[in-house]
Formats: sequence, C-alpha cells, structure tokens
Amino acid sequence: MAHVKLHIPGPVEVSEKTFQAFRTPMVGHRGQGFKDLYARIQPQLQALLYTQRLVYLSTSSAWGVMEGAIRNLVAKKVLCCMNGAFSDKWFDVAQRCGKAAEALQNPWGSPIRAEQVDARLATGQFDALTLIHNETSTGVMSPLPEIAALKQKYPDVMFIVDSVSSMTAIRLPFDELGIDVLLAGTQKALALPPGTALFVCSPAALARAAQQKDRGYYFDFLEFQKNAEQNMTPSTPSIGHVFALASKLEDIFAEGLEARFARHLRLAQRTRQWARNHGFNLFPEPGFESVTLTCVSNGARPGGRVVDVPRLQKLVKDQGFLIDGGYGKIKGATFRISNMGDETDATMQSLYDALDNAMKQL
Ligand SMILES: *Cc1c(COP(=O)(O)O)cnc(C)c1O
Repeated sequence: MAHVKLHIPGPVEVSEKTFQAFRTPMVGHRGQGFKDLYARIQPQLQALLYTQRLVYLSTSSAWGVMEGAIRNLVAKKVLCCMNGAFSDKWFDVAQRCGKAAEALQNPWGSPIRAEQVDARLATGQFDALTLIHNETSTGVMSPLPEIAALKQKYPDVMFIVDSVSSMTAIRLPFDELGIDVLLAGTQKALALPPGTALFVCSPAALARAAQQKDRGYYFDFLEFQKNAEQNMTPSTPSIGHVFALASKLEDIFAEGLEARFARHLRLAQRTRQWARNHGFNLFPEPGFESVTLTCVSNGARPGGRVVDVPRLQKLVKDQGFLIDGGYGKIKGATFRISNMGDETDATMQSLYDALDNAMKQL
C-alpha cells in the first residue's frame, strides 16, 4: 500500500535520511562506540536546550518520563495544570502513582495563566507542579516564561514541564527558565520514530529525587545522572534512536536553531491562514496558538465553517496525506494539522493544495 504522509501531530513523518541513520549496525551500549556517540551529541543536546546540565536519553515514550517525574519529585502534593487531554491525563497519572494531586483545570482551548498558578502555589500546599507547554490536543501554547518566572518565588516547588510537541520548534532555554524538568518524546517536532524521550533535570530536582524512597529503577533520575556522567544510560537504550538523533542534530544545527524556530512559526501561521481563508475559526484562545500544529474549530467555537471531518480526512488521504480528526472530547468539533519536524513551505503547500481540493468536494 502506498505510504500516506503524516500530518497528524505525532508521530510525524520520518525522513529517509533518519531511517538510514536509525539502521546503523549495532554497537554495545557499554562499549566505547556508544560512549563516543553519546559524548558527541551531548553538547548539541545542551545547545538545543540552552543548558549546562546533562541531557538524558530514556528508552520510553514521553509518558515514561512524565510518570517518572511524579515518582521522583512529588513528596507532598502536586498541582496539575490542566487544559487538554495530555495535561488532564497527567493528573490521573499522579493519582495512579499514589500521590496527592490537585487540578488547576482550565477549559480546553485556553492556556494556563501565570496568575492562576501563583494563586494556587501561594497556598503553600504544593511541592511540585506539572505543566504542558504545548497542549497538542487543543493546539494551545501556554506562556512558559511567565509561569517559569514563578520558580523564584517558590523555589521549593518542582516545576515539571512537558515540551513534547514544542521541543526544537521554539526556544526553550532550560537554565534561564529555571525550571526543574523539561522533557520530550522523539516522534513529535524532532521527527524521529517513537520510542525514546529526552529530558533534563535541575540540581534541585536531583536533590529532591535523592529523598524519595519509592522512585523505582527504570525511571530513577539519579541513575540517569550517574550514567550520563559516563556517557551511558541506566539500561540498554534504543541504540538506533541515538544514531538517528545524532543525524537529526546535524540537520538541526546545519539549519540553525533560529531558522528552525522561524520555520515552525511561519508554517503554523500559513496553516492558520489556510483555515481562515476557508471560513474556519481556530480553536485556541487568540494569542496562544501553537507553532507546531493548528487546531481548527469545526463547530467547537461559535461561527465559522463546519464540515464533515471524516469525509475531509478521507478526501485528503486519497491524495496521500493524513490529517487528524480531533482528539478526545473535541473529536470532530475540531481537526488538527501538524507542521512540525522537517516540513517546509513546499511540503506544506502540497498539503494545502490537497486540502483545497478536498474542500471543493465538500
Ligand atoms: C504526544 C504527547 C504526549 C505523549 O507522548 P507519548 O509518546 O505517547 O508518551 C505527552 N504530552 C504531549 C504534549 C504530547 O503531545
């Protein structure tokens, strides 16, 4: 069957070059070959996240590290900032880990506001918070720098941030933000296959983890630090991912970070314009639209055009592209188009042409 190109917000399309790197012959993960590989990409990972800290590689999807962060860092109570499917789920995951958790629930489509976080943290009940920078289910990007600035006021609260669908698409200066954990999976803006997550921890996060008795082994942050110091991972990693990541980092720095960030913003703006040109409204609250995907309102917001989303998807798929039909409770009332990873003006134009063609038949 012919390949249908992915324009869903993860996993995204993986290039032939990346697959070539992924299938590099194996090396032993305790051997010098692997250590040299990890040592070679470490400075690039640090440059990518504007950090002096070691960047860890976890063979898991993002949820592994998201759950791990709860187990390593929450002793008292976690404030879960919620405004979409992934952030809502994190609250559930915290409870499943046996932690006391409280919901800061905003409507889907709204960002998380620094004032709200400040008001809750001021109660003094919390020693951690979870925040999703880019809520992939709603296409909303929350103002991370403003929220992160609260860390200075609440130094004992662990700021755990998911940048799964924004890492590499926008500047995320870990050290400057002053947050405690920043994590992402490889199948979103990095455009690698799914199966690995990257994360970085503050010294305070490691100190907190050291006091936690039940942090387990596979996601023990202290194990990641200890092993990363030797250019290794706690257990056998997906070595193919590390080769693929090395290849991707070459591309990222050849393009330049600023150019990569500008490309993501420009392509997202073009998709928003495509939607408006066809009479649609956008789902996110204005001013908080994601730079990696566009969540189009299809009746979820008052006014605007409404179409048969499964039929739109089918018409686009027949032309070789997969778009997303909306997530969870806003399935059908929205649809989503991803521009993350390797997309260019030309590749997005091919998608807009297919979408235009489909719209004529609706
Ligand atoms: C995709 C996604 C996740 C979940 O990632 P998995 O790879 O399925 O674990 C978490 N958070 C956000 C914001 C996402 O977009």
